[in-house]
Amino acid sequence: MRTSVGIIGAGPAGLLLAHLLRQAGIENVVLENRTRDYVEHRQRAGVLEQNTVDVLRSSGAGERMDRLGLRHDGIELRFAREGHRVDFPSHTGGRSVMVYAQTEVVKDLIAISEQQGGTIRFEAEALAIEKADTGSPLIRYRHEGAEHTLECDIVVACDGFHGIGRQSMPQSLLRTWSHEYPFAWLGILADVPPSCDELIYANHERGFALHSMRSPQVSRLYLQVAPDEDLNAWPDDRIWAELDARFELPGWSLEHGPITEKGITPMRSFVAEPLRYGRLFLAGDAAHIVPPTGAKGLNLAAADATLLAAAIIQAHDKGDESLLDAYSETALRRVWRAEHFSYFMTTMLHRDPHADDFAHRLQLSNLRYIASSEAAAASLAENYVGLPVG
Ligand SMILES: Cc1cc2nc3c(=O)[nH]c(=O)nc-3n(C[C@H](O)[C@H](O)[C@H](O)COP(=O)(O)OP(=O)(O)OC[C@H]3O[C@@H](n4cnc5c(N)ncnc54)[C@H](O)[C@@H]3O)c2cc1C
Repeated sequence: MRTSVGIIGAGPAGLLLAHLLRQAGIENVVLENRTRDYVEHRQRAGVLEQNTVDVLRSSGAGERMDRLGLRHDGIELRFAREGHRVDFPSHTGGRSVMVYAQTEVVKDLIAISEQQGGTIRFEAEALAIEKADTGSPLIRYRHEGAEHTLECDIVVACDGFHGIGRQSMPQSLLRTWSHEYPFAWLGILADVPPSCDELIYANHERGFALHSMRSPQVSRLYLQVAPDEDLNAWPDDRIWAELDARFELPGWSLEHGPITEKGITPMRSFVAEPLRYGRLFLAGDAAHIVPPTGAKGLNLAAADATLLAAAIIQAHDKGDESLLDAYSETALRRVWRAEHFSYFMTTMLHRDPHADDFAHRLQLSNLRYIASSEAAAASLAENYVGLPVG
C-alpha cells in the first residue's frame, strides 16, 4: 500500500494530524495497534486549552465539543483551608479552557474520519520504520496475522511514549531529558455531579488533591499517592474520606457517589530532541511527557499535530519545506515552556515526602503570591489557557 503521510497511532496527535491533512486534501493512513473500542474508552486527560478548542472548531471537528463541553473561565487554588480563584479571561485577553474528555475528542475525530472516507487501520501494529533517511520511507506493520508494507512520503510517529517511532531514530542523534517525581495520582471517575463549577487544585499537608469533572453528572477526582501505591489498599470509603480531608474548607462539602473507575497514573517529565530524522517526525507523547498537573499532555499533542499539519501542507502545496525544517525547533520551544509550567504546578501543589517543612512554607508563599498578585495570577492563567502555537 502507498500513501502520502503514514501516521502511527490513533491517539489525539495522530487523529488530529490525519484530520487536518485530510481537510487539505492530503492522503494519509493511520495505523493503530489497539481496537477502536479500546482507543475510544481509554480514560485520560479532560482539559482542552484555547488553542486545542480553536483548532478543533476551525477544522470542523468541534460541533459535539461545543454542545457537550463545559467552558471554564478559571480554577480554584485551595490551601491553608482557604479557596482562591484565578480568573482566565481577565488575565489573557478573553481566553479560557474547555472541560471535554480526551475520549470524546478521540471519538469525534474517528467519527469524522469515517464520514469522510479516511483510513484508520485498527489492530494494525507498526513493527518497523525503514528508509527514514530517504525520500521514500516505509512502515512495516502486522494486520490480521499478516505482515504488510506502507510506503509513504513522510512518516509521523504519534505512537505515545512506548511506541517504536522514537526508538527508530538513530540513538546517536537523539538527546533525552527526564525527571521522576516521588508520587503518583490515584484517579477516580464517580457518578456524582461535581461539587464545584471549576477545577479545584488543593495543596494540603496530607498531599495534593484535584477536583475535576467530565460532565454535569460525572466527577473526576485525584489524590496524590506513593508511586508504588497498591490500588487494593484504597476501598471507596477510604478514597472519599481522604478527599474530604484534603479539600477541607469551612462551609463547603464534597458530594460522594458510586465510583465507576479507579486507576493510578505515574508522574514523569520527559523530552526527546530532535523531533525529526530525515522523513520521520515525532509528535505528542512519542517525544515528550508531562505530569498531568498542568493539563498539558493532550494539548501538547494537539499543538504538535497543528504545527506539523501546517508544515506538511505547505511542503505539499507549494514545495516549500521551510516549516518542515523548522518543526522540531518550533515545537520544542513550546514543549519546554509546557514542561516548565507542568513542573511548576506539580512541585507547588504536591507534598514531596523527602522535602522539609521549609519547602512547604515556600509552596504556601508562592500560592499566596498567586492569590494576591495580578502579575503572578496572569502568568499562571496565560500558561494554563495555553501560549500561542507556532
Ligand atoms: C493513564 C494516563 C492518564 C493521563 N491523564 C492525563 C490527565 O489527566 N491530564 C492530561 O493533561 N494528560 C493526561 N495524560 C496524558 C495525555 O493523555 C497524553 O499526553 C495524550 O494521550 C497524548 O496523545 P498522543 O496522541 O501523543 O499519544 P497517545 O494518546 O498515547 O496515543 C498513541 C497511540 O499509539 C498507539 N501505538 C503505540 N505503539 C503503536 C504501534 N507500534 N503501532 C500502532 N499503534 C501504536 C497506541 O495504542 C495509542 O493509541 C494521561 C496519560 C496516561 C497514560
